[in-house]
Amino acid sequence: MSVTITLIDATLGAVVTDVSLKQLDDPTWGEIHTAFLEYGVLVFPGQHLSDDEQGEFALHFGAIEKLGPRQKKGVAPISNQKADGSVVRPDEEGYKLLRGNEGWHTDSTYMPLASKAAMLSALVVPPEGGETGFADMRAAYDELDDTLKEKLEPLSAYHSLYYSQEKAGYQHNTDHLYGFHDKGAPLRHVIKTHPETGRKSLYTGRHAYGIPGMDPAESDALLSTLLEEACQPPRLYRHAWEVGDLVVWDNRCVMHCACSYDTQYPRVLRGSRIAGEVATELAPTFEDERAAAFHPTTSNASRLAR
Ligand code: MN
Repeated sequence: MSVTITLIDATLGAVVTDVSLKQLDDPTWGEIHTAFLEYGVLVFPGQHLSDDEQGEFALHFGAIEKLGPRQKKGVAPISNQKADGSVVRPDEEGYKLLRGNEGWHTDSTYMPLASKAAMLSALVVPPEGGETGFADMRAAYDELDDTLKEKLEPLSAYHSLYYSQEKAGYQHNTDHLYGFHDKGAPLRHVIKTHPETGRKSLYTGRHAYGIPGMDPAESDALLSTLLEEACQPPRLYRHAWEVGDLVVWDNRCVMHCACSYDTQYPRVLRGSRIAGEVATELAPTFEDERAAAFHPTTSNASRLAR
């Protein structure tokens, strides 16, 4: 029996029903994968998967990106609630990362190997807010005029979580957080060609900065304008979570952001991030100035080398 696919009223997104992600046969996975490539975001209401079941589903998309010690069997908590049940306070590292993600981004562009896809499922939702926003970067690219498309085609930008968190106003006290690394800032094309569909997308987001060959202020202004104009209707879908929902998106052509909520309430999601392919999501890395403060040994070494 075929799954039911209902389009969302936007340039991206579809709701998939009449399917259980716990028992996926090959033809059903084929239908899901085709829809994933076409719509960029798929919403599966009422799945109520266990950690293991979500981890198994994630593996259909590719290898799992290792996010650190809190990740088990392909899933990691994306949560403001701590093990003792209390919620993170504004001065805590986890809080700053969660709030930083309220800016539009695509996952792991600050890592040498960016993410291919990601999924979230909802375990606890706050009474109001806390949605996840999605924006279609294929449609955003299509909307650009030809002159701007030509201007952007040869451009690249650096990506860094140090940069994006600082810009969002969050000062971190530790580098023991996924994404704060000393491997350097990846340099990525501003326009990405999707490796499976061949469609072009705008590929920037909050982690992007410093287009080489451009004055830093001019680069900032260009990247901000592109992002702001891209993330507008009809290219937007905002998912209001119900417990049991699972949403998966294509990080190669969709941006997303967390929406704010009253952080005295717990919001517990479970995330799985699928690693990109070496051929298409691996980028060369260059010195990340902001990383130096967190990695004194590295910065001394690079100073000596000069
Ligand atoms: Mn994210």
